[in-house]
Amino acid sequence: MKLNRLRNLAMILMFSAFIVMYLSSFSTLSPAKAILLPIGLSVGTLILLLSVAIYFRLGVISMRLPQVRCPHCERITKMMGASDGCMFCKKALRLDVDEEGDYIALKA
Ligand SMILES: [Zn+2]
Repeated sequence: MKLNRLRNLAMILMFSAFIVMYLSSFSTLSPAKAILLPIGLSVGTLILLLSVAIYFRLGVISMRLPQVRCPHCERITKMMGASDGCMFCKKALRLDVDEEGDYIALKA
């Protein structure tokens, strides 16, 4: 669930970058505010690069996260850290290791 939350954050950042760049394009309507255009475009581009970096990093992290079966809804979910929520039913889970050394999720 933490993974989904971070993905949502990256998506919100991406949209806010578009909004910043779009709004700054209106600044050319008056010469006094024209200076805002390059500033808005630069800030928007930086936010966009940041969210792309977050997406890229999350993709790498997501590959390494242990996949476990949720004891509540029986679906396969990924856990980030020792305690996390199920990605589907959002119930709290605790990461543990069984006798064979495999990761399992327990009800928290
Ligand atoms: Zn679940």
